[in-house]
Amino acid sequence: MHYAALASGSKGNCHALSDGGRTLLVDAGISLLQIRSRLAALEWDADSIRAVAITHEHSDHIGALGVILRRTDWAILATAATRAAVEQAQGLQIPPSRWVELEAGRPRDWAGWRVLPFSLPHDAEDPVAYRIEAGGAASAIVTDLGCPTALVADHLQDLDLLVLEANHDVDMLREGDYPARLKARILSRVGHLSNAAMAELLGRVLAPRLRQVVLAHLSESNNDPALARLAAEEVLRGSAATLHVAHQRVPLALPPVA
Ligand SMILES: [Zn+2]
Ligand SMILES: [Zn+2]
Repeated sequence: MHYAALASGSKGNCHALSDGGRTLLVDAGISLLQIRSRLAALEWDADSIRAVAITHEHSDHIGALGVILRRTDWAILATAATRAAVEQAQGLQIPPSRWVELEAGRPRDWAGWRVLPFSLPHDAEDPVAYRIEAGGAASAIVTDLGCPTALVADHLQDLDLLVLEANHDVDMLREGDYPARLKARILSRVGHLSNAAMAELLGRVLAPRLRQVVLAHLSESNNDPALARLAAEEVLRGSAATLHVAHQRVPLALPPVA
């Protein structure tokens, strides 16, 4: 299983997983042009994309969906509530022929992969993260969560690859110049995950099998990649896992796991 972070942060999110033949995107919050050009920069075949799995309807996760529906034949994987919320937010329709219906907590076979969406606490209609198993490797992409619940931790056991939100440093956010209401939203239980909460969750799910950890959805205003790294490194010390940070504008590809 190959993984690439094409974009990660509040200005757009898009992750890619490939088994060498087919590519599944998780979220499409950057333009179709950028998706293709960043994949090309990583020497991935953009024609291998078959589908996009949507996590929730916030614009930084679905901005390209209208163009994708018009210009590609990719399938759209989403829960019914997220599909409805996306349609309303973007003023578009996902045709039944393009939609693969998901239900949080229920694994679904997609092209021989096991795709398991699971619920997390975030201020959207039906937000999910994904655990995806294919070719003997288990990966999870987990961003946009206000706090690490037991249900989330349960779904992150025995992973090879974990992409995990490290949105903000609590002190930087508190002392920064965001409006008070926005600070409260980010800090709430349905907001975004702090470096400290990320490290706590990482400690709970760290297993010998874990090989790659990617910190994601870092705030450009309220975090410093060095602080996020430090928080994760303290947890990962002595483990076999390598640590990476996904970037807003610079794509990142990892060597294949399993
Ligand atoms: Zn987001
Ligand atoms: Zn969100």
